[in-house]
Amino acid sequence: MTNGTGAEVVVDLDAIAANTAVLRERVDRPLMAVVKADGYGHGLVPAARAALAGGADSLGVAVLAEGLALRAAGVTAPVLTWLNGPGADFAAALTADLEVSVNAVWGLSEVVAAARATGRPARLHLFVDTGLSREGATMSEWPELVAAAARAQADGDVTVVGLWSHMAYADAPTHPTIGAQVRVFEEAVGIARAAGLTDARRHLANSAATVALPETWFDLVRPGIAVYGLDPLGGNAADHGLRPAMTVRAQVALTKRVPGGAGVSYGHTYTTAGETTLALVPVGYADGVPRAGGNCAPVLAAGAQRRIAGRVCMDQFVLDVGNAAVAPGDEVVLWGPGDGGEPTAQQWADAVGTIHYELVTRIGGRFARRYVGSAGAV
Ligand SMILES: *Cc1c(COP(=O)(O)O)cnc(C)c1O
Repeated sequence: MTNGTGAEVVVDLDAIAANTAVLRERVDRPLMAVVKADGYGHGLVPAARAALAGGADSLGVAVLAEGLALRAAGVTAPVLTWLNGPGADFAAALTADLEVSVNAVWGLSEVVAAARATGRPARLHLFVDTGLSREGATMSEWPELVAAAARAQADGDVTVVGLWSHMAYADAPTHPTIGAQVRVFEEAVGIARAAGLTDARRHLANSAATVALPETWFDLVRPGIAVYGLDPLGGNAADHGLRPAMTVRAQVALTKRVPGGAGVSYGHTYTTAGETTLALVPVGYADGVPRAGGNCAPVLAAGAQRRIAGRVCMDQFVLDVGNAAVAPGDEVVLWGPGDGGEPTAQQWADAVGTIHYELVTRIGGRFARRYVGSAGAV
């Protein structure tokens, strides 16, 4: 209760550790816990430490600054950073003992230059595009990239430790692109091995593939969202032995009795049906509560799930609680594990037409963040 409104994001570190342990045991091979985007909104460093406590072998982040922040906090586990544009400070990455990934020969050249400047060979992953058309070298570019990397390895500037790709449809486990991507990936691996890159680990599986597609596990899996206890398939996390680590709660800031016919919030998109009690909840879209949740998103208040009444504003929204007894200071839960009657992030995602990834990574603003559990705590 540190921000004056009582609004807080509560992160269960033991859940992150337990989820990691469940996934690690399921795959029975190395697991890279993805902690990009501030640990999917759960806090970069605490999430990383909790995942490591749960048995993660390494950590994955998108941008270099995230990897440097882990090192600055004293995290010594292997860290891969993969989304680096021209001019990225690869020298800083190598000095901090971060593994890096490239998609193109120009990126490799920058890494080689940094290795020579620092005297530290890069631990390098090569990213191949097997059908997502996002990161990764295309199959037509791949042989040239692999050949250049093999030369850089022979020169002692890099050690290629990873060959990898990312899936388009892992959350639809029967989709035909899955087999197609696996086949292209195996072809790419064959080309790299023929070029002499024989020691690199192969990795392809995100969370959905980790829970649903054993044929994609190869030498290492890379789950993100499942580490935080959310079902990558959009179903019930408990079916996979996972528990959501995030609870988002606020406190009622004001209540009032109003007559029927009262227009509520901007644009009066909600009108009270009869005399009722309104409760004001002091969090809004500036805090990551989607504006699209107006008149549709559920919250737990006064013992029941209730839909937000009218528009979500920048700093606040309103609930119509009928004749329920509600007072300022009472708890409102936006989402959580779901076993205390509160909605889940999945329920919110369904209500507002997005995915839970977007909800948990964007919640923030003026919410205080509080950690419970002890996994990885220093
Ligand atoms: C974000 C990301 C992951 C983790 O994805 P989840 O769906 O959260 O498991 C894995 N690999 C890459 C390349 C990513 O960008």
